[in-house]
Amino acid sequence: MAGPAILPSRGLQALVDALLARGYRVLGPQVRDGAVVLADLTDIDALPLGVGDEQAPGHYRLREGGAERAFGFAATAQSPKSVLFPPDELLWRGRRTDDGFSVEPASPADDPDHRPVAILGARGCDVAAIAVQDRVLLGREHVDAHYAARRAGAFLVAVTCSDPAGTCFCASVGTGPRPRAGSDLVLTELADPHRYLVEAGTPAGQALLGALDTTPATPDDLAAADELVADATARMGRTMRTDDLPELLNASAESPRWAAIAERCLACTNCTAVCPTCFCTGVQDVGDLTGALDERHRVWDSCFSQPYSYIHGGAVRTWTASRYRQWLTHKLATWTEQFGTSGCVGCGRCITWCPAGIDLTAEVATIRELAEAHDAVAAGAPGGAPTDGGAPTPGGLR
Ligand code: SF4
Ligand code: SF4
Repeated sequence: MAGPAILPSRGLQALVDALLARGYRVLGPQVRDGAVVLADLTDIDALPLGVGDEQAPGHYRLREGGAERAFGFAATAQSPKSVLFPPDELLWRGRRTDDGFSVEPASPADDPDHRPVAILGARGCDVAAIAVQDRVLLGREHVDAHYAARRAGAFLVAVTCSDPAGTCFCASVGTGPRPRAGSDLVLTELADPHRYLVEAGTPAGQALLGALDTTPATPDDLAAADELVADATARMGRTMRTDDLPELLNASAESPRWAAIAERCLACTNCTAVCPTCFCTGVQDVGDLTGALDERHRVWDSCFSQPYSYIHGGAVRTWTASRYRQWLTHKLATWTEQFGTSGCVGCGRCITWCPAGIDLTAEVATIRELAEAHDAVAAGAPGGAPTDGGAPTPGGLR
């Protein structure tokens, strides 16, 4: 693989043109309705040049007049999950026939507009989340055929995060701010003069890079990129200790904190919708008025919805507390047992888009404090009584 190269500022258009010429549908970050989202991109002038963002618990605002960067904002409002694993997709159509009914399976490849997708501007957290979804949806006995069809031809142009948000903690979980393995190309946006350091991560990325008009990166370019990464890491809005999470959360099933969180949690499911790794789905059948045609759709679902835990006559998790506990414990603990990786990539979206401003990094820290206080009391240490709802939840959570 050839070494890092420098792409001049307007050279980014040549990269987009090369992807379009190879038949990709190119998606890139753009401003829509007060947020940066992924949308079809043909012209780099549509990128949010000079736009930044403010993200905090339950808070998202765009900022104008920041550094003249095309990628000077943090995670887009929706992640690449919405493209590779869409919120609503047709699984099959059933038609009434003279002697019964017929079933026509659907596939993304049947769509006359189907093209492989190229995602420009994915962040380290997004690339890591795609790798997690690959494990869950492709890496087990039963492959998700629809995801596989979309994922097979996808091309990822990741971008190093220069301006992390107040809700980001990718540095704590090791997914950023410089994107790790999994991208075809990685861009790092440098200033004075405005240019991009480009590194290829796959043979496909190398082939595309070879078709662009670039110059070899100099030691100064590489040093500037390292400085940008160090600066972004230092300005990361949040941190989360990760070394003890499975043990901590598995041992905290009866923590009083779950009930305290449930006093704020609306069970609205926003956090699972924006999370780039959450993959729970349900099915909806949609029939026409004549009864001649029926469509079965797969739609995103959420462990925060009570019907999601319905098993043979009743819901298993009837309390919001038990649903939050299920979500956090699965995401940060049992996901590792199940899939060999954490379910959290540190993007911070669940914090930003939670209407109650619930912050999983703060909740984990509080659960740890309570567990340590509980252990201190059990060991007979003075002054170790928990201060927030001390006793375990009576009778457990349902
Ligand atoms: S944690 Fe926040 S976003 Fe998630 S279900 Fe509760 S209120 Fe909604
Ligand atoms: S749990 Fe929250 S911070 Fe972690 S990957 Fe999901 S949305 Fe991002």
